[in-house]
Amino acid sequence: MKGFDLNTLVRESVQKLQPYSSARDEYVSDGSEMLFLDANENPFDNGVNRYPDPYQRSLKLLLAEQKGVSESQILLGNGSDEVLDLIYRAFCEPNQDNIITLPPTYGMYKVLSGINAVENREVLLTDDFEPNVKEILGVVDAKSKLLFICSPNNPTGNSFKKERIEQLLASFSGLVVIDEAYIDFSKDESWLSQLNNYPNLIVTQTLSKAYGLAGIRLGICYASEEIIKVLNKIKPPYNVNQLTQQRALERVLNQDLVNKEIQQILQERDQLITALNNLGFVKKIYPTDANFVLAKVDNANKRYQQLLEKQVVVRNRSTQPLCENTLRFTVGTPDENKKLIATLKELN
Ligand SMILES: *Cc1c(COP(=O)(O)O)cnc(C)c1O
Repeated sequence: MKGFDLNTLVRESVQKLQPYSSARDEYVSDGSEMLFLDANENPFDNGVNRYPDPYQRSLKLLLAEQKGVSESQILLGNGSDEVLDLIYRAFCEPNQDNIITLPPTYGMYKVLSGINAVENREVLLTDDFEPNVKEILGVVDAKSKLLFICSPNNPTGNSFKKERIEQLLASFSGLVVIDEAYIDFSKDESWLSQLNNYPNLIVTQTLSKAYGLAGIRLGICYASEEIIKVLNKIKPPYNVNQLTQQRALERVLNQDLVNKEIQQILQERDQLITALNNLGFVKKIYPTDANFVLAKVDNANKRYQQLLEKQVVVRNRSTQPLCENTLRFTVGTPDENKKLIATLKELN
């Protein structure tokens, strides 16, 4: 936040941009009966013959109420992947600016930095998978636009210590993106409550994990109204389709079912951890605050292949720094979990 000034962070081309004005931007329905002959749609009703709401107002209204933020502090995208890409494109000048990531972490930050031709400065997590604040601040320069913090972190599973994140938010003069894809499984509070305290904070969430809607692609970005305005300027006009908006709305309204599933996943996770603890080839199980477990084994390549031969696909994370000989297990249904545990016990 130190010396934070949003205007100096926005790319010049974005500042100058005159955004595309869609038919649905120019005339917003007030609910009265109108003939809509302005968007060259096929007029015959089939449920999706009309363009969707470019600002997804119904869904934002519901999310805003549930999360205690204003609708103007929300941007929705075609998965978090689109949201993250928009953040790069709004703030990072190609071949000029840099971003900071903290491996081992989610692979998309690095890929997006490659796609957008933005230097990725990597600062390894400490041995206990915490951000190394001093080293991070050491690589920052005037061209450092974004700092990605994934908490709970993928693939390690842990949530970072609050004090470390606070230090980074307070000291970094670029934007701090906290990726909370797994927050619904976590014991820790979301950083959403801090949105009004840190003008440089962006929180991303998704319906792909706890909400069980990976197939519809709905990513959520929460930030100050000023940041959201910049992102709205460059987003494709109809980036969240009608079917996605509908399914998301239904699911977010059915919070009881979502919570029930989360509780079940957490119970299953505990059972999986107990089972892993009893296996000779498992050397270490890392603390997790997410719906997966990272475990160090005797020989990850061998165990990965053995599981594949028994029709079980897990993720081999061994090539990631600090993750030598690790496998990442996603928590499945009680039935899938039982099969996984039985299969693990058969390995020798
Ligand atoms: C799974 C995951 C996402 C989800 O991305 P979507 O594009 O919304 O499906 C985002 N961040 C992290 C760290 C993840 O593991």
